[in-house]
Amino acid sequence: MKINKFSKKPTNFKERAGKKTIVCYPNDNLENKNLDILLKARNHLKKKDEVIIPPRDAKTFNVKSGNFFRVESVEGPQVGDLNLFQANNFDEKFYSGKTRALYGTHISVGDKMYSSFPYLRSLATITWDTLDWYDYDEDGGSVHDVIGTRCDPYTSKLISGNDYHYCCHSNLTRALVHEKGMNINEAEKIVHDVLNVFMLTGFTNDTKQYFMKASPVRPGDYLEFFAETDLLGVLSACPGGDCGSEHSSDVAKCFPLKVSIWSVDRKYLDGLKTSNISSYNRDHGLIK
Ligand SMILES: [Zn+2]
Repeated sequence: MKINKFSKKPTNFKERAGKKTIVCYPNDNLENKNLDILLKARNHLKKKDEVIIPPRDAKTFNVKSGNFFRVESVEGPQVGDLNLFQANNFDEKFYSGKTRALYGTHISVGDKMYSSFPYLRSLATITWDTLDWYDYDEDGGSVHDVIGTRCDPYTSKLISGNDYHYCCHSNLTRALVHEKGMNINEAEKIVHDVLNVFMLTGFTNDTKQYFMKASPVRPGDYLEFFAETDLLGVLSACPGGDCGSEHSSDVAKCFPLKVSIWSVDRKYLDGLKTSNISSYNRDHGLIK
């Protein structure tokens, strides 16, 4: 927060400030022709499986490359914290920061969920969003952010002094321990910054602090993805519920979430460009 100003404004400040903004990562060159194919293909989806995520808990799910999956609101307004891994290599996982740098603070239809270095490819593309009507509100708030990290017991302890065990970070860790047979250290290390599904967030105008508001999500709403490689997903039903009051506690009313997996006949995916890991040679200036 830039509240305290101890340094004197220089006399030549006019020359140094007020420049025009330049988008850091122009994304016009990112492949988006796939979207036309995916939007047509999604009219032929067949449901294969579903997983219910209990409130204040998390579950894992697998999605094969070429299948779709949905995160759905089922019983009441509830936000979800999503982790994604390449199913055969957990070192390749969703990179929230770079996805944000490419697409902005909140993502929706056509945006891709990029993976960590040195892979940096799309793990999944968003193909439908029943909340895209919300757009950005007068406070700059919107849904499905890649600016938050995940609620966690360490920050909660730092701020409130309490030990709380059902934050999304712990829920995601617990799901990997229970369902993937990892030990706590292994699991906790690979849990990463999430896509905040359905969460309504932004930065305050004055202090630029991360804010949340009650999510507009209602039962029947969903966010749909196309899996571009075999995926392991982990979804936590956040203890914040709709995040309209507080999180990192048992105070908010919480509801389950549903993940459903859908297949489509390969013929509908004809012409789709595959998502490949980065072709950068990893020289890093070390090889002469
Ligand atoms: Zn949470």
